[in-house]
Amino acid sequence: MYLSNVDIKFLPGVGPKKADLLLKELNIRSAEDMVRHYPYKYIDRSRFYYLHEISENMPFIQVKGQILTFEKVGLGRNQRLTAIFTDGKDTLELVWFQGVKFILEKYKTGITYVIFGKPSFFNGKFNIVHPEMDLPSQLPPVEQLGLQPFYNTTEKMKSGFLNSKAVQKIQQSLLPYLQSGVPETLPAYVLKKYALMNLTEALINIHFPKNTNALNKARQRLKFEELFYVQLNILQQTKWREQNLRGFTMKRIGHFFHTFYNNHLPFELTGAQKRVLKEIHEDIGSGKQMNRLLQGDVGSGKTLVALMSLLIAIDNGYQGCLMAPTEILANQHYETLKSFIGDLGVTVDLLTGSTRPKAREKLHAGLQSGELHIIVGTHALIEEVVKFKNLGMVVIDEQHRFGVEQRSKLWKKNVQPPHVLVMTATPIPRTLAMTLYGDLSISVIDELPPGRKPIQTYHYYENKRHALNGFIYKQIAAGRQIYVVYPLIEESEKMDLQNVMEGLEYFRETFPDFKVSMVHGKLKSAEKEYQMQQFVSGITQIMVATTVIEVGVNVPNASVMIIENAERFGLSQLHQLRGRVGRGAEQSYCILLTGFKLATETRKKMEILTRTNDGFEIAEADLQLRGPGDLEGTQQSGMPFELKIADLARDGKMLEIARNFVLEILNDDPNLEKPLNVILSTQLKKLKTNSVNWGIIS
Ligand code: ADP
Ligand code: MG
Repeated sequence: MYLSNVDIKFLPGVGPKKADLLLKELNIRSAEDMVRHYPYKYIDRSRFYYLHEISENMPFIQVKGQILTFEKVGLGRNQRLTAIFTDGKDTLELVWFQGVKFILEKYKTGITYVIFGKPSFFNGKFNIVHPEMDLPSQLPPVEQLGLQPFYNTTEKMKSGFLNSKAVQKIQQSLLPYLQSGVPETLPAYVLKKYALMNLTEALINIHFPKNTNALNKARQRLKFEELFYVQLNILQQTKWREQNLRGFTMKRIGHFFHTFYNNHLPFELTGAQKRVLKEIHEDIGSGKQMNRLLQGDVGSGKTLVALMSLLIAIDNGYQGCLMAPTEILANQHYETLKSFIGDLGVTVDLLTGSTRPKAREKLHAGLQSGELHIIVGTHALIEEVVKFKNLGMVVIDEQHRFGVEQRSKLWKKNVQPPHVLVMTATPIPRTLAMTLYGDLSISVIDELPPGRKPIQTYHYYENKRHALNGFIYKQIAAGRQIYVVYPLIEESEKMDLQNVMEGLEYFRETFPDFKVSMVHGKLKSAEKEYQMQQFVSGITQIMVATTVIEVGVNVPNASVMIIENAERFGLSQLHQLRGRVGRGAEQSYCILLTGFKLATETRKKMEILTRTNDGFEIAEADLQLRGPGDLEGTQQSGMPFELKIADLARDGKMLEIARNFVLEILNDDPNLEKPLNVILSTQLKKLKTNSVNWGIIS
């Protein structure tokens, strides 16, 4: 009996309607999908808590004790009932907003009850709102109450009578299938090596844990399985590529590189830039195709590394391209490269959506004849009509804006795939990089060019705005420029846009001596360009904007970044925005403005940002605070299947173990052909066919 063959609608208590809901809401089709829908939490009814153990953020707990007094508070609709509850030593308040009369009739003081609920902290003390209350005699013994599973459901499911309890019932009906044994998905030698629970037991215990220990073992097993297959998937592809794809060999360091290095380079390379260039040179000289992620904080000098890599390609007789996610950025890169290159004799041109047909024709011809060495551009580069004589090196800036698919389209622009260098200023924590970009080699620029003053970051409440204006005035009077960034998200787009407009008005009125630009995503691209250009060239001194300015824009004269409603941005995004300043020689500042009422998490964000400028530390903290699901880039990443139980923020160690083990297995049996590994290729195939298509979702 295979659970994957059992249609969910034939299970007791399901039927076509609920089956439909399960499919639409949770992508659950078969009984197997169902048993792989794990609880997201468990409530421990296996023990009683003491009131002195209660702390903030605790899950549901149960306490045994008595009610000392009842008190009715407020009148009419606002009336509520409170009770003082004691476990014999300490007290806790119980609160009811409804059913006051019923409660007073049913429950009495001086009788021992078991109360169950989620404690919250209010007005300096703990309370439980609408607790479940039972006489101890009404409950089964504690040992049998055990761990109660809770399942994720959606609003639609709830209104379709599919709450967590209902899901639990369905799982219950599947228990006999599980107990008769399910086919194992990991080879016996893997289970043995890490003393993992077998799949049958793990599935039983994840839904119906015997005790905490068994639950932990079940979770370990299922997490390991997930991480193992994610790594197997990535690394098998990498192995395949290594074995089957040759890369252009670019050993030579020739005329262009040397001349540039000796005569054009306006400053000394940083140690990190030198190291990374060496890594790249070794890689592209090896005969293998390079797929490399270049990570480096904003301002660390990635563009220069890109250019020098392209020069090596040209020295070896190839062409190169540099792709950026926006027109503004592509323009900027083009200008930067042109000025670096000067009279070196390397030809470079720009292709974006705004390139005129005439210019396009000329450019296409140049690429095909090989006269044009480097082309900088946007997505326009991917189009079919763009053909190269001999494309050898592709550089992609700001990776997270591009999908894996777009990357691979550029690959196909030559018979043999070109080398690919992906650059990102969003530092990615190690565990995430191993998963999302596990197929890429990684280089890191972890050093800023000398002479940069670290940006000073301050967190202000909104009422400090006036004081801030004096500071802004002084900065601009001293010749600097200012960014003011507002959040804008789709859900509240109208209001957000209004805030940006009001911001524009506010700054115009407050600083009549200065000129203000405004850029947001709703502007026509020509208008955006114009506004941006006004700021870049220093005609305007204040730039009011949404996050469209987040990526890559370089205005070294801008020294102040003010972020409005900073609480609404993610940690990494705030860091990215901050990176727009601090690019010149002057001291730069970042001001985070928030309201007074802040969630604990937001406070933490502000604390981290004011303390450190280290992008990797911030990325790591972001991962811990938000979990990987929300991190930018996750949607477009190469994740073959979603993680249901493993957590990249917490399970980094296990991920590493799984990865190393997978490497061992693949080194020994790259195509997974050995009999004891057949189970691996079968399961991997199955996972991939069932997988969600991330490309479609994002
Ligand atoms: P990012 O890594 O954010 O793309 P850029 O490549 O835009 O950084 O570099 C930021 C600035 O630092 C540019 O003005 C660049 O010319 C300058 N720069 C790059 N490398 C060095 C260096 N080794 N020494 C001094 N300045 C440098
Ligand atoms: Mg850049």
